[in-house]
Amino acid sequence: MRLQFLGAAETTSGSCYLLSFAEHQVLVDCGLFHGPEELKQRNYGDFPFVPEEIDAVILTHAHIDHSGLLPKLVKHGFKGPIYATGVTVDLCSIMLADSAYIQETEVERKNRKLLRRGEKLLTPIYTVADAEKTMGHFRHMVYDEEVTILPNLRIRLRDAGHILGAAIVELWVTEGEVTTKLVFSGDLGNLKQPIVQDPSFISSADVVVIESTYGTRIHEDRDARFHRLAEVVNETMERGGNLLIPAFALGRTQDLLYALRVLQDQGEIPRLKVFIDSPLAVRATAVFQKHAQVFDYETRTMIKEGRSPFEFPGLEYTESVQESMALNSIRGGAVIISASGMADAGRIKHHLKHNLWRREATVLLVGYQAEGTLGRMLQDGAQEVRIHGEPVRVQAKIETITGFSAHGDQAALLEWLRRYRHLGRVFVTHGETETCHSFADLIRDEFKVPVIVPKLDETFDLSKTDSISAWEIDYQDFYVEENFSGVVQVAEDRHIKFRGCYGLAERKYGVKNTQSTAFNLGSGREFFAQVALYRLWDQGLVEATYPLKMVGESWEDTVAHFTGKDPKVVVAQEVLTPLGMDQSAYYFLDQLPAQAAMGYTKTRTGQNVENIYAILAEGLRPQLFSTLHDLNRFWSVLVEGEFLRPSTVQALLAPYAVGEDEGFYQIMGSAPGASMVMGGSLERGALITVLSNGEEGTLSVYNQLVDLSL
Ligand SMILES: [Zn+2]
Ligand SMILES: [Zn+2]
Repeated sequence: MRLQFLGAAETTSGSCYLLSFAEHQVLVDCGLFHGPEELKQRNYGDFPFVPEEIDAVILTHAHIDHSGLLPKLVKHGFKGPIYATGVTVDLCSIMLADSAYIQETEVERKNRKLLRRGEKLLTPIYTVADAEKTMGHFRHMVYDEEVTILPNLRIRLRDAGHILGAAIVELWVTEGEVTTKLVFSGDLGNLKQPIVQDPSFISSADVVVIESTYGTRIHEDRDARFHRLAEVVNETMERGGNLLIPAFALGRTQDLLYALRVLQDQGEIPRLKVFIDSPLAVRATAVFQKHAQVFDYETRTMIKEGRSPFEFPGLEYTESVQESMALNSIRGGAVIISASGMADAGRIKHHLKHNLWRREATVLLVGYQAEGTLGRMLQDGAQEVRIHGEPVRVQAKIETITGFSAHGDQAALLEWLRRYRHLGRVFVTHGETETCHSFADLIRDEFKVPVIVPKLDETFDLSKTDSISAWEIDYQDFYVEENFSGVVQVAEDRHIKFRGCYGLAERKYGVKNTQSTAFNLGSGREFFAQVALYRLWDQGLVEATYPLKMVGESWEDTVAHFTGKDPKVVVAQEVLTPLGMDQSAYYFLDQLPAQAAMGYTKTRTGQNVENIYAILAEGLRPQLFSTLHDLNRFWSVLVEGEFLRPSTVQALLAPYAVGEDEGFYQIMGSAPGASMVMGGSLERGALITVLSNGEEGTLSVYNQLVDLSL
């Protein structure tokens, strides 16, 4: 049995774990990546598995970082069921449609610009129609019921106390005589959180995968939090201003309503006018009300006594744009709760524009504000901000209350682990890199069990008693010399068998090479010129005798000769675009985009220098840059035999055949400050790729990978 970490590994988004046993493959979650560009790229690329081959998905909860790529999974051929609680299913029907709508409108906006520039148009990751289709795959589960979903696989969902409907997944896998119990915490809630129950305690597991979002932090306690909120409300009302609260539509908005209702009932704040101005929050709140039976005891009691946190005098939900705009004319005395939570999108921006310049107003931040967002700028004390292109002076009071979190803090997470009577090994995920590692240390110290922080795409063989990753076992003899700078990957049939990233993409700024860094292929671009030519020949669009022969100095010249066009345009049209190699492009070396690696070469005196020398050596020819993902995609499509006829593939590759192994091919490229090798087998669909932004160690690294993989 193997477990692969395809998301939320040393990061908080993109939760997705692939469990394979016997003939089966099951996913736990299939979430969208947020944050840095190199992670967001993964939303667009191929899944590192074949969607048709996935038997089932188990979804922990409706947050987009756990559910957001389900419509993409369905779009790419997933046919199986998705197991989730009834509340999660209802919440997904609004969350996934909303996510699809955001992507469609964003792509439309970008395409209007691209169209004007005559550039290639983008397609959204998925559409509203894909999201709707996804809903047909859901199977409702009830907390605590045990269901056999595949031969030898039993599952049970337990209340995670995070947001309504959120689940911990318990999973029993039987192989032969042995049954292994796995527990995926999903996102674990805080103790004594409003509305939702406390997280369920689990008593035994051979393998636990636990989140660590706040693994190194302790939240302000509930009384302190409520007290601060009352202070902020009262101060703002005394000044006669409005109180603006940017809040996440699902979870945070409902928690705030609860807090306001409690404070009002206790007489700590006056009767207020409260507006929920977010169509998504309105719909999410409606789902909450429909599922009132899963609320915690306190909330159920409040509702029974006629004190619902979701309906009280003065509370208004606004859905239409007109209603929302009407709020702009309110000078003071209102609480406006609106999305997004980091104020970087949505209706809250309009309200900020109309209130930030007012000394009597307050903006209250209650959630995590990521770097670069409007919320973060306000938190950091910006004097002036731009909203919809207009400068706005910040004169309102900016306040922050921490602890309104749907995640358990360090104490809550450790307490959850303490309740296990049997705890095998623990994988720590869903946290920033440093948090994951510090929290792992804490668990190791207290529980004396093996604790692992998996890397993205890393696989572990769970039938082995030790906890070393399959990467480390299969490639334990792999040795990378210090002077090698670049990335390596071994993939088979789209599955990642091994990957390593070494050295820096840009030494001046200390930018690391990552899985999505684009590398100059150097003379390797000749191969792609050849591919383009064979593609045209395959379709009868060039008149040449078989096999194709080089005309002039290079294959690029040959392409120009036969087509009368710029070879880089032909390669883009015939190879990069039809194959969806979206991370590959031609760049001039003095105009590299952020995700491309600088090339490093040595002068005659042995000095390391940037690739300005490469420009001189190569003239002003643009260079073809590509990534591990795109080269792997190229090879998989070639192997599938639909891009070029199989006989054409043979003709194209014949000059690159190496070794005694039949059907193994090797393509190399270099330029000053760049070197690459890729070796692939047609039969196994395997590809070994080494991309370097230096000149040393490439071949030695490659040869080792060949020895260890074949
Ligand atoms: Zn969550
Ligand atoms: Zn999450």
